[in-house]
Formats: sequence, C-alpha cells, structure tokens
Amino acid sequence: MKIPKQNCPFCGYAVDRTDGIESKKPKAGDISLCLKCMEISLFGKDFILHVPEAEELIEIQRSLAWAKIERARAAWRQLRIKEQISADGR
Ligand SMILES: [Zn+2]
Repeated sequence: MKIPKQNCPFCGYAVDRTDGIESKKPKAGDISLCLKCMEISLFGKDFILHVPEAEELIEIQRSLAWAKIERARAAWRQLRIKEQISADGR
C-alpha cells in the first residue's frame, strides 16, 4: 500500500509504499523492513517511519514477527550474494 513519501531512517532510501510484515495495511507500532538495508523501522502516526527505541527493539525480537523478519533477511542476503557473484563474473 501507499505511504507518505519519506526516507529510510537508516540508509536514506526513498520509501513510498510498504507490504508490511504483519498486515498489508500498517498501523502505528507496526514493523517495516527497508528493502534496501533490511533495517527495522516502526510506523508511527500518519505512517511515518522511525528508528525503534531499545525497548521497542527487544519487544520486536520477542514477538512472533521476528522469525519472519529473520527469514526475510536471510533471503535478502542470499540474493545479495548471488548478485555479487554475477557482478564479479568474468
Ligand atoms: Zn534502509
């Protein structure tokens, strides 16, 4: 779904849509994974992303969503490795 145009609080990647980890329509407190750096940010008011506080991060790691995040990150890392190999190929 469309969210207000903004930048990833970690890498500055421009974001204007999300598929959400838990639901298609994010609400305040929901997790967003950056497609560029795979860092976790949280939706606040009006779908504005922010860097999670230490306590919020612990909460996320204890939640059921964490396994999904780890899977998404693992898949992303594999993709990156494959891209690296094809870029190095001569
Ligand atoms: Zn990012």
